Amino acid sequence: MTSESVIAEVLLPLALATPYSYRVPPDMEVVEGSYVEVPLGPRSYIGVVWEVRPFVASNMRLRDIAQVFTTPAMPATHRKFIEWLATYYLEPKGSVLRMALRVPSAFEAPRAQTAFRIATGLPKRMTPQRQRVLEVMRDGFPLQAREIADLAGVGTSVVKAMAKDGAIEELALPALRPFAEPDPGAEALPFNAEQQQAADELRSMVAARQHKVTLLDGVTGSGKTEVYFEAMAEALRQGRQVLLLLPEIALTAPFLARVERRFAAEPAGWHSDLRPRERERVWRGVAEGHARIVVGARSALFLPWANLGLIVVDEEHEGAYKQDEGVSYHARDMAVLYGALAQFPVVLSSATPSLESLVNVDRGRYASVRLHDRHGRAELPDIGLIDMRSADVPTGSWLSAPLLADVKATIEAGDQALLFLNRRGYAPLTLCRACGHHLNCPNCSAAMVEHRFRRILQCHHCGHQEPATNTCPKCNTEGKLVPIGPGVERLAEEAARHFPEARIAILSSDISRGVMLRDVLKEVADGVWNLVIGTQLVAKGHHFPHLTLAGIVDADLALESSDPRSGERTWALLAQVAGRAGRGEKPGRAFVQTYAPEHPLMRALKSGDRDSYLAQERLIRQAGGLPPYGRLAALIISSDKAHEAEAFAKALAKIIPPTDDLQVLGPAIAPIAVIRGRHRWRLLVKASRTVDLQAFLRLWLKDVKPKGQLQLQIDVDPYNFL
Ligand code: ADP
Ligand code: ZN
Repeated sequence: MTSESVIAEVLLPLALATPYSYRVPPDMEVVEGSYVEVPLGPRSYIGVVWEVRPFVASNMRLRDIAQVFTTPAMPATHRKFIEWLATYYLEPKGSVLRMALRVPSAFEAPRAQTAFRIATGLPKRMTPQRQRVLEVMRDGFPLQAREIADLAGVGTSVVKAMAKDGAIEELALPALRPFAEPDPGAEALPFNAEQQQAADELRSMVAARQHKVTLLDGVTGSGKTEVYFEAMAEALRQGRQVLLLLPEIALTAPFLARVERRFAAEPAGWHSDLRPRERERVWRGVAEGHARIVVGARSALFLPWANLGLIVVDEEHEGAYKQDEGVSYHARDMAVLYGALAQFPVVLSSATPSLESLVNVDRGRYASVRLHDRHGRAELPDIGLIDMRSADVPTGSWLSAPLLADVKATIEAGDQALLFLNRRGYAPLTLCRACGHHLNCPNCSAAMVEHRFRRILQCHHCGHQEPATNTCPKCNTEGKLVPIGPGVERLAEEAARHFPEARIAILSSDISRGVMLRDVLKEVADGVWNLVIGTQLVAKGHHFPHLTLAGIVDADLALESSDPRSGERTWALLAQVAGRAGRGEKPGRAFVQTYAPEHPLMRALKSGDRDSYLAQERLIRQAGGLPPYGRLAALIISSDKAHEAEAFAKALAKIIPPTDDLQVLGPAIAPIAVIRGRHRWRLLVKASRTVDLQAFLRLWLKDVKPKGQLQLQIDVDPYNFL
């Protein structure tokens, strides 16, 4: 085929199900997977050539590809991965591609590496567009013209005009630093017998160069990380790339440093706080194949892998692997899918594996490697239950006398204590004592949460904020608003009353974000703080060697939920929090405050008998036909008008294709009936494992087109039932 006769089907990063056709100009060479720039309407987009086919006369009026980039073509397996993901989650292929193309600057020719930063002068002329440019550049970091344009939603011409004006200045960027070659044999630890056996098994799995999934199931502190490093080393010896997935929040500097020590080379980190320039460096390094180890959050799956040979999913049970916004996907499940498509092994690691993975082990689909003991002298913490019905708890307090005594002893011994409460802010609810009014969000059916440090009330569903107030908005009475219940800030206040000398840190996503949060986590690990009060983000795989006491303030909090996974989740959360204690030289203890000490979960926590608790959970799931014994998909209908959402949900229910193999529950008003001013209804599809759920959904929804303000979101394998 000569180049004159070629048509390229180009997939664009837009909500499109199929690629668009373009003519390849005679002097241009493209292959399947090439990254190209093409015109669409008045704009131009970067897309990927999905297919190349011969030119026929009816294609006369096609537009030309504008340019082809020198970036290595997207490998066929990666394209297949994007297709599969789109099919599985019923998303347009283009929306999935968009996640793989979030680094526009990676396509600029390497010689044109200039950037802009804010200058001292003000623009001669101010327009809303220019204002937006200044806003995105406010923090002073150099950004490239295309990045600024994308962030501010303006054309690059605006950026260039402002540079001429002197409002921003151009500077040359140094070349991107390549990634160093890791050394698979650098600084491996001498293993104990159990670790050695686990490492051998993982190593031989990788050596086989086939698809296989192994669950590395070991108690907290047993050396899972050290063990899966051996699997990574083996893949590196084969010359392949390795992806280590972590929940975003566990991607800390100390963890990256640990990977660097083990392999004597800095790994590529990938998370949402990366500077654009570093983002570009990693993206290119992965595409070119010299970024050999990537330690990343879930979106790292979509990097343009040149030669991926292993994925390790650490903390595989973590809910954070499920993305709910935009394209909803589960990164652990997609890691397994990727391995199956590209024929490489996958390691899932956890101290509290998901029921999904445990059942896959029982079915013989996954192999299992277990580590039963903590490494060295460290032992699993003893877990004690504090029965809050009989414990001594002063009114208006949340910490019982026995827990307080232990915190005191811990601090006095020079150690670190942790108090865990999974609630952000000061108080989850504010009530007017004069008229009984609850302060609620104007946009959502949810309470406003008081954040006292920041002197605001905030809705945790839409982010709506109001200044803290002293006056009831309903009856105008002053001084009668009272906080109900504790959040971490209120708990910190109580702790400070008891321990005025303590160095207290609050670990909560809204107090310390991003880089700052990573700093605080490091300070906790270094023992700068001796009393840590935290939400669930303390449970995510951190290694705090000074911590010897973990106190769980309200163990019953998550159990009330109607989520089918709430039992399993609570179990994992509490076991992980308790597991933060005693990972260093000194033994640890954990205390669990509960009003239901006879609950099977609490009893299992105390006795450490995970298997019998999970066996019971499995029976419940099995009886209910719930995952992993059955499959679920949620349909979430929303609209700014209540009646519209209701009518659409009911209309959907009327056209359910006749079937005996599955059940559609609802429609019903969602548990959170209104979010961001949108009224919400839900339908839940429940199917046995053998049913083709996606085919059913496609058939059902093939002619359904929500109009106007109506939205229909399909959530396959939902984790969120609100
Ligand atoms: P996990 O991932 O199971 O929680 P880690 O791999 O983080 O456990 O190990 C816990 C701690 O024990 C770490 O500080 C680690 O360096 C140390 N450790 C684990 N195995 C060994 C070993 N064989 N020799 C020395 N230290 C070890
Ligand atoms: Zn709200």
